[in-house]
Amino acid sequence: MTEAVLEFDLDEALKRLRLPRIRACWKEWADRAAREEMPFGDFLRSLISDEVAAREETKLRRLLRQANFPFHKTSEEFDFRLQPQIRRQVFQSYLEDSFVREGRSLVLIGQPGLGKTHLAVAVGLRVVHRFSTVRFVVVQELVNRYLTSETQKQRARILKPYKRCDLLILDEFGYLPHEPELAHLLYEIISERYERLATVITSNKSLKEWGRVLGDTALASALIDRLMHHGDVYYLKGKSYRLRDKTVNVGDEA
Ligand code: ADP
Ligand code: MG
Repeated sequence: MTEAVLEFDLDEALKRLRLPRIRACWKEWADRAAREEMPFGDFLRSLISDEVAAREETKLRRLLRQANFPFHKTSEEFDFRLQPQIRRQVFQSYLEDSFVREGRSLVLIGQPGLGKTHLAVAVGLRVVHRFSTVRFVVVQELVNRYLTSETQKQRARILKPYKRCDLLILDEFGYLPHEPELAHLLYEIISERYERLATVITSNKSLKEWGRVLGDTALASALIDRLMHHGDVYYLKGKSYRLRDKTVNVGDEA
């Protein structure tokens, strides 16, 4: 080994190259390699794969934080027998990469407690685990944030992530009487995403009622037109999942 190599500050170089995981674990791997007479190729592979795994984990954590899901539930945790309006096999297509790649839409409509948010989150979690960006937002929260920002620039900054993310989940559309600004706000977001980026919307109002919710039937049909061009709508039915449990318990006790 030359003197230059011996004097080379590996720690400093790994810091500069931004390889924190290798910096933290190379000594351990080097000892192990010596002990086990590990081939050089395997040693290198171990180091690099450690770095890659650590980076992916950090990235996943960041994406999950950004997504802002209200809870983490997967489609495996969803009992499709209770929701015959959407079969597991059919739902599978929304979990596939093509849903996001083709910029498709999914609208889930139904009364509270039927699992709309659960299914939307299940789609979102899949997308995050493929390292794509997701934003989950309750419509009313988005409107509030939009309306409380003062300048046009601030408003644009608020909307930007919702226009750009690979999957946008708009939850609880139509639950509360919405401000008149919502119609334009939604239209702006949906048109920007149209045919490029995926969107999931949950609502307790049927598509027919959206015009009334938005206070603008022309704009509502333009919105629905875009969503449905490469999208599907499901009307979930049945009893609220939580209430259903309660009825069973009361019945059991009686
Ligand atoms: P919604 O958004 O339609 O009001 P949620 O998705 O919030 O309903 O569901 C309410 C609760 O019930 C959640 O904890 C959800 O995980 C659960 N839930 C609803 N439907 C099902 C189902 N078919 N299988 C498993 N859990 C369900
Ligand atoms: Mg919900």
